[in-house]
Amino acid sequence: MAQSAAPTAGVPAITPVSLKALAPWAVFFGMLMLVLLYFVGAEQGAISVIAGEGVHEWVHDGRHLLGFPCH
Ligand SMILES: [Zn+2]
Repeated sequence: MAQSAAPTAGVPAITPVSLKALAPWAVFFGMLMLVLLYFVGAEQGAISVIAGEGVHEWVHDGRHLLGFPCH
């Protein structure tokens, strides 16, 4: 039994994405991750921008998991 090569007909061509087109998305997601890191690591712990304990309760397990000081 002969093995046939992968079919090429009907397969869409993959166009590479340039770094110039990718850079704004990388900056956006990098900033998003920094905001997330702030909320998990520092908000309502070391410093507090949002009053109350809601954010702390939402990210409490993640804070312990990542080793940030909590209580
Ligand atoms: Zn804790």
